[in-house]
Amino acid sequence: MNNTKDIMKEYELLRDKHKKELDQRKTVLYSKIPRLHKIEEELVKLSIDITKAILSNSGNQQELLDILHKKQMDLKMERVELLSENKYPRDYLEMRYHCKNCKDTGYVDSKKCACLTQKEIEQLYKQSNMSSSFKKENFDMFRLDYYSNDAEEGKVSPRENMKNIYMTCINYVRNFDAHEKNLFFIGKPGLGKTFLCNSIAKDLLDAGRSVIYQSAPDLIDAIRKYKFNFDKEDENAPYLEELYHCDLLIIDDLGTELSTQFSNLAIYNILNRRLLNNKKIIISTNLNTDELMATYSERIYSRILGNFSMYKFFGDDIRLKMRTM
Ligand SMILES: [Zn+2]
Repeated sequence: MNNTKDIMKEYELLRDKHKKELDQRKTVLYSKIPRLHKIEEELVKLSIDITKAILSNSGNQQELLDILHKKQMDLKMERVELLSENKYPRDYLEMRYHCKNCKDTGYVDSKKCACLTQKEIEQLYKQSNMSSSFKKENFDMFRLDYYSNDAEEGKVSPRENMKNIYMTCINYVRNFDAHEKNLFFIGKPGLGKTFLCNSIAKDLLDAGRSVIYQSAPDLIDAIRKYKFNFDKEDENAPYLEELYHCDLLIIDDLGTELSTQFSNLAIYNILNRRLLNNKKIIISTNLNTDELMATYSERIYSRILGNFSMYKFFGDDIRLKMRTM
């Protein structure tokens, strides 16, 4: 997606708007106080004279520059005084900026301004499909105490298991560039799979990484729309490219889509293309392994087994506890 181009256009519009507002302020004020207009003309002329003096390199250059700078200062002082006499703020005739640091250019000394980084993150959120309620689900809000400490004989307790998965997710984000891991979350609904997916997405988005979060049915829908609009100019096309190229693709609820030959092929293609390009994927599903095998072709299932670390969620539905606590 051409985010940078869009953001730069935004800055350009912002500068145009402020320039227009300044021109309007000038027009009104100059007709009211003509001397201010005269001062501006003289200042423009002076700055040309100063440049000429610098370039001329003549013997009395310094002397001349001193005189010109003094004139410049006097005119600026006169302007400030005129403004304050007439009850206008002293910067009334200066450009106003949304961001003073970069003057709405996005860059300070060819480095990205904080306001540009912020805009980029907002864009990433927009294209990630993360709704604002998702943003509240983050690692800090995760409650291990919702999970039972009681272990079946010879097994770890749900809490111990979740602690392990939770730490895996935190390390997944922390060392995002250092690993090639894909995660597969498997287990019944209400055990925190989506919560952890959201937490991972949030931390990566805040770090400026591109993440797309999509439920399996919506993913198939988007691809279907694109395929059947192939000849037409399609607004979905950049989004589909992003499905292949974003830093992390999260497919939530695999198995809830209507399973057809088309959906199977679409899922296979996405998995295959991202795996070939070392692009990371997280999948969550409510299906168990038998159901997965029955739903998906051998080649999808073997891609999952061969390329994903599988994490099994078990225990009681924590959504009930979240409501009563
Ligand atoms: Zn800025």
